[in-house]
Amino acid sequence: MRGSDAAARPALVIGGGVAGLSAAVRLSAAGRAVTLLEMARHLGGRCRSFDDAKLGARIDNGNHLMMTANQEILDYLDMVGARDEMKIAPLATFPFIDLAHDRRWIVRIRGKGAWWALDPRNRVPGTGLGDVLDLVRMARAPDHQPIGDLLRRRGQFWRRFWEPLAVGALNVPAVEGDAGLLRAVIERTFLAGEAACRPMTATRGLSETFVDPAVRFLTASGARLRLGAQVKALRFADGSVAEAVLDDGAVLPLAGADVVLAMPPTRAMALAPGLTAPAEGYPIVNVHFRLDQPAPTLPDGAFLMGLVGSQSQWIFVREEIVSHTISAAAEEAKQNEDALVAQLWRETCQALRLGPAARYAAVRVIREKRATFLETPPETRKRPGPQTAWRNLFLAGDWTATGLPATIEGAVLSGRRAAAAAMGRGG
Ligand SMILES: Cc1cc2nc3c(=O)[nH]c(=O)nc-3n(C[C@H](O)[C@H](O)[C@H](O)COP(=O)(O)OP(=O)(O)OC[C@H]3O[C@@H](n4cnc5c(N)ncnc54)[C@H](O)[C@@H]3O)c2cc1C
Repeated sequence: MRGSDAAARPALVIGGGVAGLSAAVRLSAAGRAVTLLEMARHLGGRCRSFDDAKLGARIDNGNHLMMTANQEILDYLDMVGARDEMKIAPLATFPFIDLAHDRRWIVRIRGKGAWWALDPRNRVPGTGLGDVLDLVRMARAPDHQPIGDLLRRRGQFWRRFWEPLAVGALNVPAVEGDAGLLRAVIERTFLAGEAACRPMTATRGLSETFVDPAVRFLTASGARLRLGAQVKALRFADGSVAEAVLDDGAVLPLAGADVVLAMPPTRAMALAPGLTAPAEGYPIVNVHFRLDQPAPTLPDGAFLMGLVGSQSQWIFVREEIVSHTISAAAEEAKQNEDALVAQLWRETCQALRLGPAARYAAVRVIREKRATFLETPPETRKRPGPQTAWRNLFLAGDWTATGLPATIEGAVLSGRRAAAAAMGRGG
């Protein structure tokens, strides 16, 4: 690949998760000749759908909750013509149950800003006006402070709001999470009001929403997509990446090209010597039940329910599939499957008020051992920006310094920033 004019330089994207697709779409839209290499036989990385023979249904590798605050996602979907694939809940309504006390409530976010939090009807039961001070404290949280050092770790506001929110948003035990990341979440959502807080989910599946439309866009723009192509090494010369070596021994010349590494941090560190990144991963476990009847509907057309005093934190409901998410699942990643399934079925029956005769037709447990990087202060400090020590090498991925937790929103943003950095560099 040769050439020095920014618009004419070809671009190689390595890694076909959301971050890589986002970078490829932006570069392609800017007129670059894009090649995307993905080591797996499918695109999407940690954000994909597949046909599950055991369940007899198409499911996502993990339940993915997004919010209308996720403007990067919405812009990406607009670019690839897929906004219609996103299901947006009609209202910012979050039903909850505390299984330990069999207590139900609904958080309804209404209007602009955070005024909803002052109305007792919207508040978490067992909490008072004084708890709103914790919201103020969190809104001012500095980066890289553990959440446990910032908030009062007692009472129902902690147990029924902060703890599930932090675990769900950061995928770490709540006290250890980086408060700066949680601040970024609540600033964009709960403190912004209803318009930002409607839950979104991929209607047909993550692949149909994030991957297939991007493939159509890239193919129509002349991009080359190669699956089953693993980059084993990069070779450097004169402060730039000069070549990529593939697992089949092929060597891609890269002088004059821009290269975006959009792979998990440990793999990026193996290819780019001297790169520092958050290397530790943390698990999420999903348990999907297929009921022998459609699942009960939730209030206000909601498709998810929060659980407290339980092993699971969220239940997602889609027709007859009921899916649990357990974040920060260090224990569950190792737990005996029968015991885990039995516990989660009990939680399903209690939360959805299924009668004693209720049965499930099939169940699937998916353990993602490195679902996200470990979002604690020591690790988040290591997040690099899109630039590297090499002129033509850029980084994308949910683990880069987006200021956001490791989410699809962050991955899309990271891809856009890597593409912008590549387009912004001189020849
Ligand atoms: C179970 C689970 C639940 C989640 N829940 C949510 C949620 O509710 N909301 C939310 O927003 N986010 C959620 N996430 C996070 C979200 O899925 C990720 O943030 C996002 O998918 C990361 O995308 P990425 O492109 O940065 O990385 P990845 O998806 O990991 O993509 C990296 C790609 O690089 C490829 N690759 C690696 N090495 C090479 C190589 N040498 N050569 C070529 N290719 C290579 C990999 O095969 C992979 O396809 C969840 C994740 C999981 C696993």
